[in-house]
Amino acid sequence: MTLALVDIGLNLAHASFDHDRDAVVADAVAAGVTRMVVTGSTLASTRSAIDIVRSRRSRYRATAGIHPHHAREFPDSDIPALRALLLLPEVGAAGECGLDYFRNFSSHEDQERVFRLQLQLAAECGKPVFLHQRDGHDAFVGILREHVPRLAGGVAHCFTGDERELRDYLDLGLSIGITGWICDERRGQHLRDLVRLVPLDRLMLETDAPYLLPRDLKPKPSHRRNEPKYLPHILHAVAACRGEPAEVVAAAATDNAIRFFGFDRDPA
Ligand SMILES: [Zn+2]
Repeated sequence: MTLALVDIGLNLAHASFDHDRDAVVADAVAAGVTRMVVTGSTLASTRSAIDIVRSRRSRYRATAGIHPHHAREFPDSDIPALRALLLLPEVGAAGECGLDYFRNFSSHEDQERVFRLQLQLAAECGKPVFLHQRDGHDAFVGILREHVPRLAGGVAHCFTGDERELRDYLDLGLSIGITGWICDERRGQHLRDLVRLVPLDRLMLETDAPYLLPRDLKPKPSHRRNEPKYLPHILHAVAACRGEPAEVVAAAATDNAIRFFGFDRDPA
């Protein structure tokens, strides 16, 4: 089976890839992961992500945004710089942005300010949003609901929530990004049931590498670093949970990602 998968959440600018980034990409392509979206989470990492994708724009996109962890380091005076990045053709979505009330590295006030701001910029620039949410569902949905009519789409990246959260996201028209969390027999069990409720035209796949190494890889890698080459493993877990052929899930997830991030359908 020849897959052509899109990893919609890959932190390829992360320092753990500095010594072998090209090899990581080559391994992923060999495994069928032919398109990738490189996540930005600060102005600096967004610029790095754009540098990485610039030379291979037919198959790569970056996201441009401020992760809620970094909201307190984002003054309003940086808004023009973020807007300029969002308008670049290399940038497929705004984010990752949202709320993280689990770690609270930034105050709720800062997180909500920077989230609202990014939703406004995304609408202005005509880009969809790549969303992060942890332990802040009600505030997150409240803010999103104000902005969603003007947005060019949104994806709840690394969805690990419960059924109520999933239904709220689907009602808002969001797509759902599934990571290797689903491969975790213990903490991912609820997700294995819930993933069936995601309509096929709203499903996307991501590794979130270098984080979230799937727990059930065999043989177990000698290191803990996740890589985009493991995306087919996540695909097969999702397909098995849904009771659908992997080819069907792969084709749908790829098609969804191509449309969402504005990839060329027939890249050079
Ligand atoms: Zn995230």
